[in-house]
Amino acid sequence: MAEVLVYVDHVDGAVRKPTLELLTLARRIGEPVAVALGNGAADTAATLAEHGAVKVLTHEASEYAEYLVVPKVDALQAAVEAVSPAAVLVPSSAEGKEIAARLALRIGSGIITDAVDLEAGDEGPVATQSVFAASFTTKSRVSKGTPVITVKPNSAAVEAAPAAGSVEALDVSFSAQATGTKITGRTPRESTGRPELTEAAIVVSGGRGVNGAENFSIIEALADSLGAAVGASRAAVDAGWYPHTNQVGQTGKSVSPQLYIANGISGAIQHRAGMQTSKTIVAVNKDAEAPIFDLVDYGVVGDLFDVVPQLTEEIKTR
Ligand code: FAD
Repeated sequence: MAEVLVYVDHVDGAVRKPTLELLTLARRIGEPVAVALGNGAADTAATLAEHGAVKVLTHEASEYAEYLVVPKVDALQAAVEAVSPAAVLVPSSAEGKEIAARLALRIGSGIITDAVDLEAGDEGPVATQSVFAASFTTKSRVSKGTPVITVKPNSAAVEAAPAAGSVEALDVSFSAQATGTKITGRTPRESTGRPELTEAAIVVSGGRGVNGAENFSIIEALADSLGAAVGASRAAVDAGWYPHTNQVGQTGKSVSPQLYIANGISGAIQHRAGMQTSKTIVAVNKDAEAPIFDLVDYGVVGDLFDVVPQLTEEIKTR
């Protein structure tokens, strides 16, 4: 069976959920071989093996933390040359997409970004993408070279699938460009204790209807009762009520959670572009004609200041 390289997103050996989702998809098209780089790379092996990695290629070097993405591209290129995989899968984060694009260019391959599903095909893996502000779903395959595919978080379930996960050291020599841009400082964001927006299984968002920064506490309380991330429309962000890092939409983040709850959001096309692939969509809006109701699975016509606190209290009792 053909091997499929999976780029491992981890923090000091703790594997992030989108990588485990990639392993589920990789098993559909071949045997997953994981590539873990940087501090704690070897510590990822047990988790990766539990989720189907037949092999884990590791390389620890300070360059991965000290410089931007090029050292990681060098390492993935070395892995592609060592394994000759059927495909390379990378999580669709900002960094993942940059790594994938640079890798595809290096190895002369086609690339598919932001896939939401993946299946085996006669002529190579077939990726599903959601395009034109989620108005269409397309299926594509790479017709040149080793397919490089980035996959959006929450596109597949995390599945236990015990495999060997044998650890092998990857032989990497860094290119001249690898140390071209040095990271001179990092400022950690203040932790909210909530899940990362693009990875969260549930997102609770607020829009102009929330009517003020102070009222976002209502949205946060609902999010916390569900263990969800908080999102915001651009109107709410532009008004300074919530940080831009939480904006969902065309010029914000793209999310695809199991459940998306839109509160006081009209459903403009630019907002839909970032959330329309959510599995279940719920909206609370006092205007029964709001366009958001065209795409919801469940809609509540009502004032969010009445509905949301009641919903939060009800969820807390369960
Ligand atoms: P509105 O459209 O004003 O809707 C507010 C809604 O709240 C209304 O439907 C109203 O009925 C309801 N409401 C009011 N009070 C209550 C209440 N008490 N209870 C319940 N409901 C209530 N937008 C994004 O979101 N993300 C983007 O990334 C983005 N990118 C853009 C890029 C470009 C190039 C452009 C031109 C626009 C972009 N926009 C984006 C803006 C987008 O067009 C809309 O203006 C924006 O999404 C509107 O935000 P909203 O739904 O919160 O506000």
